[in-house]
Amino acid sequence: MDMAAVTKDETYMREAKKQAMKAYALGEVPIGCVIVYEDKIIARGYNRRNTDKNTLSHAELNAIRKASRKLGDWRLEDCTLYVTLEPCQMCAGAIVQARIPRVVIAAMNPKAGCAGSVVNLLEMDGFNHKVQVTRGILEEECSSMLSGFFRELREKKSVKNRRKERNGNDKTGISGIGKKGNGIT
Ligand SMILES: [Zn+2]
Repeated sequence: MDMAAVTKDETYMREAKKQAMKAYALGEVPIGCVIVYEDKIIARGYNRRNTDKNTLSHAELNAIRKASRKLGDWRLEDCTLYVTLEPCQMCAGAIVQARIPRVVIAAMNPKAGCAGSVVNLLEMDGFNHKVQVTRGILEEECSSMLSGFFRELREKKSVKNRRKERNGNDKTGISGIGKKGNGIT
């Protein structure tokens, strides 16, 4: 990939990170997404799962919904999706269903990601649609934002409970991001 393309990816990923910061401000796991069409951002989304009390309210699905409304089509065939954390199985499925040709990912999610970590739903030979995936754009920034969020959460919890939080009780696996030895490279 040439330098201009890398710079462009970074620019859009920075916008996705801004969306993630909106989630952060709401006390949500900071994950953000933007969808680009013809060199313009046509949709933005961030994780609002707790706020909306809805398991479908992931950053990617919120952005996909808006992009489809904007383009008047469930197919997002000429779009690129930028997301700060590797998509889960639900969002990876929606990306394939929407026939999005390219996805750019900042941080990987070793215990729950479905774009190469646990499984790779985006690049499966068996499906009729295969996504081109770029990984590691603004990875450091986005994973340190996530680990900072979980560190704060643990600190808040330990203050609240007045006892030391034990590690390793997070079943989502997301809180492991950015910690030493979890396989992020
Ligand atoms: Zn998801």
